[in-house]
Amino acid sequence: MKKISRRSFLAAAAVSAAALALTACGGSASTASSAAASSVAASSEAASTSAAAAELTTVEAGKLTMATNATFPPYEMTTDAGTIEGIDVDTAQAIAEKLGLELQIDDMDFDAALLSVQQGKADIAMAGITVTDERMAVMSFSDSYATGIQSVIVPEGSDIASVDDLAGKKIGTQRGTTGYLYCSDDFGEDAVVAYDNGLTAVQALNNGQVDAVVIDNEPAKAYVESNPGLKILDTSYAEEDYAIGMAKGNTALLEAVNAALEELKADGTLQAIVDKYIKAE
Ligand code: GLN
Repeated sequence: MKKISRRSFLAAAAVSAAALALTACGGSASTASSAAASSVAASSEAASTSAAAAELTTVEAGKLTMATNATFPPYEMTTDAGTIEGIDVDTAQAIAEKLGLELQIDDMDFDAALLSVQQGKADIAMAGITVTDERMAVMSFSDSYATGIQSVIVPEGSDIASVDDLAGKKIGTQRGTTGYLYCSDDFGEDAVVAYDNGLTAVQALNNGQVDAVVIDNEPAKAYVESNPGLKILDTSYAEEDYAIGMAKGNTALLEAVNAALEELKADGTLQAIVDKYIKAE
């Protein structure tokens, strides 16, 4: 009996990857330029959601506090200069501008980011967070703003060629993620090692401490690119929806965030942000 609800296995994920690729191509053709994503959002359009913002009480007055885990490229990562950037950061920035609030980012472990909104320490959590039934029981989610895929990273030459081959292997994951939950559900908790973040999981794979790492596809691509000798399996593990986490019952914030997201989707800002960080292949 599966504890975790997930929409797909293998075949559906492959279809979705194709759909994502199409979206990426279409998007980059129409909104080629760029970078200007957050300044677009900063313009006069801000007025439309400011009425909702007037009602908002945030953790710190005048600020939208975002809990994240900045080791998840290209959604959130820390630059060499120590600043945090990525799709989630630019999207949160655009939402904050629409709500007339200043974005404040708090970087912490992924599981702490989920707890942070539940405990009222942050207004929103954005960290490529997958919507699951279990999480919906303890927090609220915005409308989805992206899809994700759980992928499997293995060393080149590994005898693991499909998700089924993970049986009997040691699997590295990030603590508190859906990758951890799916793997412990499917292969047993003893088979799964939970690391603080994706980077340490990939380091463990490089050192031979685990046989594979299960992690979201975009960070998987970034980690494989910077770690020669690793590869991503062609078959995916699961398809997921990412959304913004908030405290359960904070209807005013939920509605304001959803209204802002809708505008950012409609005017192309969200697609421009994605295109800035994910280049069409
Ligand atoms: N999408 C995965 C989850 O929500 C992993 C997110 C992350 O590691 N930042 O569990």
